Amino acid sequence: MSTPFISPRPGIMDIDPYVPGEGGIKNNKGGKKDVIKLSSNEGAFGPSPKAVSALTDVAGSMNRYPDGSASQLTDAIGKRFGLDPARIVCGAGSDEILSLLAYSYAGPGDEVLYTEHGFLMYPIAAKAAGATPIAAGETDLTTDVDKLLAAVTDKTKIVFLANPNNPTGTYLGASELQRLRAGLPTNVLLVIDAAYAEFVSRDDYTPGFELVDQGNNTVMTRTFSKIFALGGIRLGWAYMPAEIADVINRVRGPFNVSSVAQAAGIATLEDTEFFNKSREHNIEWIEKTQNALRNMGIETTNSVGNFVLAQFDGENGKTAKAADKFLRNNSIIVRQMNAYGLANCLRISIGREDEMQACIDALDRFMKSEMN
Ligand SMILES: *Cc1c(COP(=O)(O)O)cnc(C)c1O
Repeated sequence: MSTPFISPRPGIMDIDPYVPGEGGIKNNKGGKKDVIKLSSNEGAFGPSPKAVSALTDVAGSMNRYPDGSASQLTDAIGKRFGLDPARIVCGAGSDEILSLLAYSYAGPGDEVLYTEHGFLMYPIAAKAAGATPIAAGETDLTTDVDKLLAAVTDKTKIVFLANPNNPTGTYLGASELQRLRAGLPTNVLLVIDAAYAEFVSRDDYTPGFELVDQGNNTVMTRTFSKIFALGGIRLGWAYMPAEIADVINRVRGPFNVSSVAQAAGIATLEDTEFFNKSREHNIEWIEKTQNALRNMGIETTNSVGNFVLAQFDGENGKTAKAADKFLRNNSIIVRQMNAYGLANCLRISIGREDEMQACIDALDRFMKSEMN
């Protein structure tokens, strides 16, 4: 006799599992071929050497549980960004914090708002919490505050906004962000996901600290996975009102951030040389890459992140799908954008100089090739 199927809560089976950026191509022996991986917006230069050595130092005490409140790490983050450590909560990646916020503040019958081409973790977290995700339209691949506000109903509990947004690379300036907060009912939680904040160099950009401070209904999330290049050990953090920190500290796992992640995070924050190098490299190559693509006839947004959104017009068979295949044949892996409703686009992360040059050269050959 077969055992009965144990049903999960309603909504769970509607979740399309998150599909991560691909890591490689199989060689004919079933192993992995060397590839240029530009599919997950990871650090271009590997981790900070200081993080590697700090992690090695704590490896010998892996048998011990970590500090459950990650107090040295929250102190280090507080010092670096000028924030009260008591209102910083760390997580196993900022994805964990986004999920904890969804579970804590939304449930069946509630709506969770995000933008049309927003980060895919938002509808996943909403559905996992039993809530209904609602996508508001964008304008020119950019968040539209009026459209977001128009989508608010009595049921809206949370608005998730990536600023800058992944995968479009566009952002809302400080005044638009303020206008969004001011236009939302006070009982709606605004979550500003500033995963790419450290890459942005625009005068009108803010990651959102002041919005968190000015009320009790805004949270800013950040990550160590992007400029700090620690995606593999899962480390993120959020700055929030004291009341919300109290809630999240109740629902999170008591040891949700591992000892090695805490050590590597602290060491990475101290490595300003690594940070500056990563930031300067990105500023240089985001511009070079976008200019090169535009010169070939591939449209791009003005990305302020560490990735480029390449838009293919599809003329003469020059589609995103064909470009992806061509790059793959040249051992270059980028990200297809179908799941984000952008089937004519590819997202290309900024890698090392040689990797970017190889990618640009391959795209140039693709655009000049005869299609049949
Ligand atoms: C990469 C990314 C994150 C970070 O996720 P982690 O769980 O911290 O690795 C969060 N939000 C957006 C928009 C991202 O692109």
